Amino acid sequence: MATSPRATSPRAAKRQVDSGRGVGPLRNGVYLDFADSINRLGQKVIADRYGNLFDMYDNITGENAYKTPMRIYPAPHYTMGGLWVDYYLMSNIPGLFVIGEANFSDHGANRLGASALMQGLADGYFVLPSTLPNYIAANKLEKIDENADAVKEAVANVNDITQRLMNTNGTKSVDHYHRELGKIVWDYCGMSRTAQGLEKAIQLIPELEAEFWENVRVTGTAGELNQELEKAGRLVDYFDLGRLMCIDALDRNESCGGHFREEYQTPEGEALRNDEEYTYVAAWEYAGEGEMPLLHKEPLEFETVKLATRSYK
Ligand SMILES: Cc1cc2nc3c(=O)[nH]c(=O)nc-3n(C[C@H](O)[C@H](O)[C@H](O)COP(=O)(O)OP(=O)(O)OC[C@H]3O[C@@H](n4cnc5c(N)ncnc54)[C@H](O)[C@@H]3O)c2cc1C
Repeated sequence: MATSPRATSPRAAKRQVDSGRGVGPLRNGVYLDFADSINRLGQKVIADRYGNLFDMYDNITGENAYKTPMRIYPAPHYTMGGLWVDYYLMSNIPGLFVIGEANFSDHGANRLGASALMQGLADGYFVLPSTLPNYIAANKLEKIDENADAVKEAVANVNDITQRLMNTNGTKSVDHYHRELGKIVWDYCGMSRTAQGLEKAIQLIPELEAEFWENVRVTGTAGELNQELEKAGRLVDYFDLGRLMCIDALDRNESCGGHFREEYQTPEGEALRNDEEYTYVAAWEYAGEGEMPLLHKEPLEFETVKLATRSYK
């Protein structure tokens, strides 16, 4: 989420959107107006700093952002958090390693720009090439018996979900429900959240999931390459993930990084943290369908780098 030269922080930009100030025909969007900065610093300085962005914008819109404000839209494009992993990038399931955006490890409450790809590179290039062979060398990997109860149960579970999805034969597409879920998470667990909104989302998501199981339509068959079925399978997981994101956001009564609770902000509208109570990683354990996941708190200890509040000003 970029910060406009006019708006002092993402929150201010969002308030600008909500208040309708500075918003032209583009509803729910924000303008990035570089006029003041160009007057103050000169176009060359701005071009040196952001020239590639201006070129990309011109290619996409045909508009010269040195002359007219840039139209931007806040869009979630990275998920803070992820699967818990240890120092070797192994999850709590022995032998399952998780790298890149799917793990929780590197970024904390808000990641720095351009650092996600760096993390993927570090995980894939430096960490895993040493930790995975270590694991294989140190553990006797038993041959998996296809007739083992656990294997049969897992296969039966996947077949059951696949059949349920194929047999529902409803009237609405997978994309319809994916969009509906995305809207609930965006509206109530997006740029800013409130306890009331999060409680509503935690109620709405299971209702939408129940409707999905009654009325989704997955075209094609289960025996062929079927992208609709693939998407439906992922959406089943996203209902759990969306609900968990809301539960976690409701449990964390502070604002920190990408987690902004409207109840916890400074008079200037900046994030109000509560380090005394919330300096920990929240690791949630799955406790069964529809059950409240179990919270494990992993304390964060800052030995060399002092914990400090980030200013967007
Ligand atoms: C619009 C946008 C702009 C970004 N800009 C930047 C930037 O400037 N700098 C930066 O550092 N980062 C940026 N990021 C973030 C960065 O792109 C991602 O964090 C990074 O690509 C994650 O890489 P990954 O390999 O961990 O996961 P992904 O790239 O998400 O790859 C996961 C793959 O797994 C596949 N998959 C998922 N589920 C299944 C399944 N069940 N079965 C089989 N396959 C599956 C997916 O199809 C996907 O191909 C941006 C992201 C977006 C969306």
